[in-house]
Order: sequence, then C-alpha cells, then structure tokens
Amino acid sequence: RVDLESLLRNMLSDFVPRARQKDIDFGLETTGEPLIIEGNPVLLGELLKNLIDNAIKYTPEGGCVTVRTLATERAIVEVEDTGIGVPEADRERVFERFYRVLGSTESGSGLGLPIVREIADLHRATVSLIPNPSGKGTIAQVVFPRARGAEDDTTPSRATAGQFPPG
Ligand code: ATP
Ligand code: MG
Repeated sequence: RVDLESLLRNMLSDFVPRARQKDIDFGLETTGEPLIIEGNPVLLGELLKNLIDNAIKYTPEGGCVTVRTLATERAIVEVEDTGIGVPEADRERVFERFYRVLGSTESGSGLGLPIVREIADLHRATVSLIPNPSGKGTIAQVVFPRARGAEDDTTPSRATAGQFPPG
C-alpha cells in the first residue's frame, strides 16, 4: 500500500531548486487526505519523477507547474504545466521508446514516458497527455484504481464472516 499524497510531498522538494532556477511557479494542490493505492513506492516515485521532470523541462522561464491529486472512485495524479505542449499527432507516440517531438531544443533520450507507461501498466493505471484547457501546455494524467477498503484502513470485521453460513 502506498499513499500517493505523502509520496508526492516527500519528493517535491527535490525539484524546487530547478523550478526556481527557471523562475517556474511550482506548487502542489491536494486534498490533504491520504490517497492509498496498491503498488511499489520506488517504481511509483520513478513514474512521478519522470512526469515532473518533463513538466519543468518543457516549460519555459516564468511558467507554472502544478502537481495535483484528485480523489474520486479512482486515485488521480495530474502534473499540469504551461509549457510548449505536445502536438496531437505526437501525444500517443511519445510513449514509444526513443520517440521525441521534432524540434525540441531540450536534451533527453526519449525513455522517460515509456518507463512511465510501463510502471502505470504494472499498477493497472492509465497515463495520458491532455492539452492544458487553459490553452497553453500539457496535463499528464495518471489514473489508478484505489486500494480496496482504503477509506478505513482497519482489518475486515469478524461480524461479516460470522454471517456465514446464513441461517
Ligand atoms: P528522458 O529520457 O530524459 O525523459 P525525454 O524527456 O525526451 O528524455 P520522454 O520523457 O519520454 O523523453 O518524453 C518524450 C517526448 O515527449 C519529449 O522529448 C518531448 O518532446 C515530449 N514531452 C514530454 N513531456 C512533455 C511536456 N510536459 N510538455 C511538452 N512536451 C513533452
Ligand atoms: Mg522525460
């Protein structure tokens, strides 16, 4: 079991110096409640790092990067940026190994998003790039199934088991 909320909180400070260097307004928006999923914290850390790294890398000076969690019947993490955006034709291809959008002046090997997708698959999560509705930039969205019984983290009560066999 992994709490995405505290996982994010613990890794954000690593990116603050880079964001500051580019004068990027870097923030976290969460409910403040634990957001529990089943998974491997090391791999999930890698997934999130790659998305935040991209958001900062592909956002010019003075932009804005927001990491957000949303708790619905799913556990959602969004990394929103006001960067250069990803053309529609490339939005799925960037998940292929070594694929990079033509004309990018930033360096990289094109392996970050394939790794993100692989880790998402292992967690039965979906990951996609969505154009930022503000008209500028990208939202990288990851949708996880929530851990069963994550709302109250107690062991199943014996009363339920005691109802069987019925009668
Ligand atoms: P690295 O292996 O170091 O991550 P990379 O960043 O080039 O290299 P990916 O993370 O796989 O590789 O991203 C693939 C391509 O998708 C990038 O080269 C870039 O063109 C585009 N891209 C990814 N994220 C964003 C983003 N947030 N905004 C704009 N373009 C992006
Ligand atoms: Mg990358």
